Amino acid sequence: MNTNNIKPVKRIAILTSGGDAPGMNAAIRAIVIAAQHYQIAVIGFYAGFNGLIDYVSMPLGVKDVANIIHKGGTILKSARCPAMKTSLGIAQATSTLLKEKIDALIVIGGDGSFAGSLALHKQWSGQVIGIPATIDNDIDGTDFTIGFSTAINTAIEAIDKIRDTAEAFERIFIVELMGRNSGHITFNVGVACAAEQVISFENFAANNQATGEQEKLLTLAKEIKLAQANRHASYIIVIAENVWQGGASVLAQQLQALANIDCTACILGHIQRGGSPVAKDRILATKLGVGAVQSLIAGKSNIMIAEQNNAIADVALPTAIMHQQGVSESLIQAQENILALTAQRLC
Ligand code: ATP
Repeated sequence: MNTNNIKPVKRIAILTSGGDAPGMNAAIRAIVIAAQHYQIAVIGFYAGFNGLIDYVSMPLGVKDVANIIHKGGTILKSARCPAMKTSLGIAQATSTLLKEKIDALIVIGGDGSFAGSLALHKQWSGQVIGIPATIDNDIDGTDFTIGFSTAINTAIEAIDKIRDTAEAFERIFIVELMGRNSGHITFNVGVACAAEQVISFENFAANNQATGEQEKLLTLAKEIKLAQANRHASYIIVIAENVWQGGASVLAQQLQALANIDCTACILGHIQRGGSPVAKDRILATKLGVGAVQSLIAGKSNIMIAEQNNAIADVALPTAIMHQQGVSESLIQAQENILALTAQRLC
């Protein structure tokens, strides 16, 4: 590339969008520090794309990002912004970027936020870079997304505690985990907590939801009854949100109605989104934040900054949102063919 043709970047806008993820603050900090190093001004916009549409912003300097690397949430706030899906919303966001003389926009969020960035890029000629941050880990082209490691650690800690009380009372728990339509959290947490059952999109995909659920319910009831008869111990089922109609509570009621099995449903919910980011998320966010600024200076645009095999890489934004990253096939196979069967053998 001829570096003489690269337009110098003087002003960067950043925003955090979609579900918040632990490590977003670490990414903001890295961007601001790297930008200052290269003498670039940073303007933060509030509450996702709403900040661009409603023109709510603040300049960000190194002092503003001191002492935030360890904090969950995001100092810029995050939100959904339905207006970004309208031409009026895109026009308002573009107008703000032009008024602020922004050369480049960095969006920290999930695949929906990247779709918003692409829509904006069609109307606005500045550079656009996405940083993958979502607890769901469902973005293709990056080994991990910011927030995933913290979310699974939080869930593991919670389920280890549930295991203690379940073991003491020989209880059956059904724990519902986040992930929207992806099973990264459920599968990883299920394996790490030695759950007796993992029910997720990757191992429970029925052509007919009602028939599939009925069949699964029958086998589940049989296995739980066997476990209860043969050993006096806890029994934990982890289930992905949105995989079962009505979720964990309905599954618990169905097991009660079908086979008089007493289960406690526990929905971990938003606890998985909060908390201080673990080391892995802080480091990933820092690498991606610095990488994003350096890519902008190199003239790159319309890309997601990713980590692949421990190295920084860039992926075209349309490619990043084309497919959802799947759960590791070896993890699914290990759970389905070995670990789940071991739980049955213990019965
Ligand atoms: P997470 O999955 O972790 O919640 P996300 O970024 O995928 O993160 P979404 O709610 O899907 O979360 O998207 C965030 C925002 O991105 C939306 O509220 C909207 O403002 C914008 N957005 C999403 N899809 C589009 C689209 N097709 N066109 C324009 N904007 C979009």
